[in-house]
Amino acid sequence: MPENLYAGFDLGGTQLKYGLINSSGRIIYKSQAPSPPDIKSLMDLIQRIWAELDRRYPKRIKSAGFGFAGFFSLKRKRIMQSPNYPALDNFPLFPALKKIIPVPFAVHNDANLAAYGEYLYGSARRAHSLVFLTVGTGLGSGIILEGELWQGKGGFAGELGHITVNPEGLRCGCGNIGCLETEVSAPALVRNYLEFSGKSGNKDTLSARDIYLRARAGDEAARKSFDRCGYFLGIALGIVMNFLNPEKIIIGGGVMKAGRWLLRPAVAEARKRSIAPAFATCEIRRASLGNDAGLMGAAAWARHKMEAGKLTP
Ligand SMILES: [Zn+2]
Repeated sequence: MPENLYAGFDLGGTQLKYGLINSSGRIIYKSQAPSPPDIKSLMDLIQRIWAELDRRYPKRIKSAGFGFAGFFSLKRKRIMQSPNYPALDNFPLFPALKKIIPVPFAVHNDANLAAYGEYLYGSARRAHSLVFLTVGTGLGSGIILEGELWQGKGGFAGELGHITVNPEGLRCGCGNIGCLETEVSAPALVRNYLEFSGKSGNKDTLSARDIYLRARAGDEAARKSFDRCGYFLGIALGIVMNFLNPEKIIIGGGVMKAGRWLLRPAVAEARKRSIAPAFATCEIRRASLGNDAGLMGAAAWARHKMEAGKLTP
């Protein structure tokens, strides 16, 4: 008998990643497409993808999970606000998805589901507690406490990217001033570099990867740019350690490809700003699932909910 499969979709600011996992969490199929600019094309794309998956694996897909960038409301079952994908703002997702997805499905914030993926299959496997951060276009995060995704009362828990770390800083996409994501993200790194190098260069032609390569090659301004991001990241990690005393903090996302350039100043700052026993019991590691964490977590989350009887077909 062919094994059951579980679909996962992970929609970020630039790419829609999707795939199928089996019951032991192995990826059976995966692909991606550019994120469409408006909601109608997004729904059309998901419909086409579903048709394709169903054609390849007829009748084998038992559930579907969707991780969307933005603040997901458990009560209203929609993204209330999406700083990095505004097309989702307040759109009634459930009726639209119900029309095109013929199996039970679940929706949540993308970083929450990526945290769940790392917890089940990645760097934080079976950790007692974990805080996951993903540093890319923005800064997403999710919290797992004693094996369960901590959603908060309304679904909005784990928005570490929108805590204030620089009260005199820049305006964030969420409307607040000086959020962590305004200081720790790919755009922040580029902005730092333009400032430290004294170049009036175009921020659209420089990427986080360019700055990583320059740091490696000995460019002082590039190193200082990482140090500044690491400083603010470390402040946030210190807060997390003192507040939750998690067993693990796992950091992923595109900017983390720079590894120690970001991590070293962040860990140094977190050590200074956390109480010693909380720091000593917390392990900070790089995420291990890379781009797959979101779709794997989304697929596993929907399966978990379905098997717990919490999804209606
Ligand atoms: Zn914000």
